[in-house]
Amino acid sequence: MVSKHFGESWCQNHLADQELFQLLEKADADLTEEARSKGCLLCGGKLHRSDYERKPRGGPQWELRFSLCCAQEGCRRRHTPPSVRFMGRRVYAGLVVALVSAMIHGLKPERVKLLREALGIDRRTLERWRQWWLVTFVESSFWREARARFMPPLCLKTMPLSLCESFEVQRHDRLLDLLKFLAPITPPAAWKALVM
Ligand SMILES: [Zn+2]
Repeated sequence: MVSKHFGESWCQNHLADQELFQLLEKADADLTEEARSKGCLLCGGKLHRSDYERKPRGGPQWELRFSLCCAQEGCRRRHTPPSVRFMGRRVYAGLVVALVSAMIHGLKPERVKLLREALGIDRRTLERWRQWWLVTFVESSFWREARARFMPPLCLKTMPLSLCESFEVQRHDRLLDLLKFLAPITPPAAWKALVM
């Protein structure tokens, strides 16, 4: 069903909103600073910034994933903090993955196709995202622990649209809240554990 609140206009607005992209970059900088202040989880050593190149396809023109490295000789462990911009190894930004996947359940197939093509997402990629939300995500330990906070329970068959609706992501600050909610699964190590 096409709902007027969950149409493509706000979705497309979000996906072309430079101000929103800056807001998310700032949120990532805050998450990185928070992780840095905790120090190395293995040895307690100091962490320093060790960002790496990461340019998402389609949408935001970000260039770096913020990351940290332990400064302690003999440890030097990399700590990549949670992110509201990048989702594990996905080549598209997290908000693109969440919003376009939600639109599968909110728009007619031909409108989804236009949206997908405008962002250069191929059909198989979108199908993989759909499967990920409907199977991997809803069966993950992350979701099993988190789902209790949603009352009434969310419809799992329309994920992630039901999640987006619950967060009321038409608003910037609420979309940021959704991405912060998902942030714990975004560091590469957590992402890998989720997929397996
Ligand atoms: Zn260390």
